[in-house]
Amino acid sequence: MEQHKVMILGTGPAGLTAAIYAARANLNPVVIEGNEPGGQLTLTTEVENFPGFPEGIMGPELMDNMRQQAEKFGAKFVHGWVSSVHMSQRPFRVTVDETDEYVAETIIISTGASAKMLGIPGEADLVGRGVSTCATCDGFFFRNKPIVVVGGGDSAMEEATFLTKFASEVTIVHRRTELRASKVMQDRARNNPKIKWALNVTPVSVKSDGNKVNGLEVRDNETGETRVLPTEGVFIAIGHQPNTAFLNGQIDVDPVGYIITQGVSSATSVEGVFACGDVMDSHYRQAITAAGSGCKAAMDVEKYLEGSAFQDWSVSSSVSTH
Ligand code: NAP
Repeated sequence: MEQHKVMILGTGPAGLTAAIYAARANLNPVVIEGNEPGGQLTLTTEVENFPGFPEGIMGPELMDNMRQQAEKFGAKFVHGWVSSVHMSQRPFRVTVDETDEYVAETIIISTGASAKMLGIPGEADLVGRGVSTCATCDGFFFRNKPIVVVGGGDSAMEEATFLTKFASEVTIVHRRTELRASKVMQDRARNNPKIKWALNVTPVSVKSDGNKVNGLEVRDNETGETRVLPTEGVFIAIGHQPNTAFLNGQIDVDPVGYIITQGVSSATSVEGVFACGDVMDSHYRQAITAAGSGCKAAMDVEKYLEGSAFQDWSVSSSVSTH
């Protein structure tokens, strides 16, 4: 079986940037695409905040460009889903689609995180046409329009507060009367005159005019009555789940499941395994930060394979600029 120098798991901005850098470093990376090639950006429409595109660029096109760039330098793509990774032996073994086995000296995990969704009628169909999971990405499209944010945690408070910059008003929809968010975030939202509240209600369906969102149907948990909140934007902010279940506890993760990396590096608790993008970043979660961390991971792999990696990643990175 051919032994690869590096396998990259996942093809969001982190994985594809890692692929570009690894390919240009002559590491002949093999990239496993996963179930959602291109990652979360393929679920959005226009991306206006990725540097270098003053007119904006469609999410799927941006990801396609990155992929072409990686292919141009020799990255090989494998369509499939990583079912398991065996890290107790060297080289590592990666099983794709339960049947195909690959062996690799190093692994870059860039499997991302998935926004949790409500799973109600209309929601999935209208992603990118009014349903969003990213206020930073999509808030700008709802200038002077009423927006609904679903959730009662810090993310929902933060997104709602951020969205008041654009929206005519923002209604926070939460399934209980108490919020889960920290007091400081709650207070900020409560003191914002543009924020309205629909508490103790359950979202039932996302309504549309046949093309775009035009309302969120909710049920009052006390009376059982349903009503429609008119809105063109429904932001779902009920948390994210990092895609790390396939690792089966072989790598150190935080209590939510995000991979823990060492210091400024992308090194994980397993030597030779590196992580980048949303799978290790619960905080910034931007395409550009993911891409930046993908670059770091490829450079860390290059140094590791040369045998010149810094021994203690937690102190600082040994990566030199070139
Ligand atoms: P979270 O704390 O888990 O809150 C998720 C919210 O969504 C909860 O209010 C939950 O309701 C609601 N929810 C979950 N599933 C739902 C469903 N199926 N239907 C309706 N509502 C649902 O997630 P998060 O707000 O994304 O925060 C994640 C972590 O990041 C937290 O530790 C948070 O403190 C941190 N964070 C910090 C900041 C900051 O400090 N600036 C910003 C964002 C996030 P219940 O309350 O009823 O369970």
